[in-house]
Amino acid sequence: MTDEERYKAVADNIARILDEVGEEKAKYRSPDDTVRLMAVTKTVEPDVVNSAIRCGIDLLGENRVQEYLGKKDSYLKGAEVHFIGGLQLNKAKYIVGDVSMIHSVDSLRLGNEIDRLAKARGIVQDVLVEVNIGEEATKHGISEEELPELLAGLSELGGIRVRGLMTIPPPGTSEKNFERMQRLFCDNRSVYPAFDTLSMGMSADYRLAVRFGSTIIRVGSGIFGAREYKI
Ligand SMILES: *Cc1c(COP(=O)(O)O)cnc(C)c1O
Repeated sequence: MTDEERYKAVADNIARILDEVGEEKAKYRSPDDTVRLMAVTKTVEPDVVNSAIRCGIDLLGENRVQEYLGKKDSYLKGAEVHFIGGLQLNKAKYIVGDVSMIHSVDSLRLGNEIDRLAKARGIVQDVLVEVNIGEEATKHGISEEELPELLAGLSELGGIRVRGLMTIPPPGTSEKNFERMQRLFCDNRSVYPAFDTLSMGMSADYRLAVRFGSTIIRVGSGIFGAREYKI
């Protein structure tokens, strides 16, 4: 594929996804609900990411600290960046204050480290708590059972503001788990007034996620094509 063909494919994919999101919204959501389309950039070269920004993408999702640091100066200005991957404590210093939201807080230890760095930088860092809704042993995220205690602990920290929840359900379980997430989100929104973000839905299941109240769908391969290697 030439670069031009690649950019054209990205543009077509974005247009198609936005159409589909519009259809689901019309069926299941209220007209003034916002559903943002995040372009997940892992393994994608900056010039291709920039072609998505030129198509109107204003939110990028970054998974890996090292990869992000190597690419960020090549991105066109104007797109907001969220960090969505697992974040090690010793790498948090590169991310806090550099991105507008971190989707993957799943422990008080990580929350405390983000809080410490944010205070040192004189900012409040927006975060989401990642919920391991399918209770998969290998996945990141806090269990539904332990969520209340974690949210209570994080709410004491002045350097972070918890804006909502994020999840990646196990393959084939999206419908039932998105429904559970929607309920968890609504329950906690009545406790934590800053809750306004529910990050769920990827290439395989974003339509369902829109149906169950997602406010950010995170789409990688659906926009940029299949990744050549896994990360
Ligand atoms: C890779 C990734 C995505 C996007 O996955 P696709 O299936 O390529 O759309 C979304 N969220 C997270 C956390 C990811 O790591």
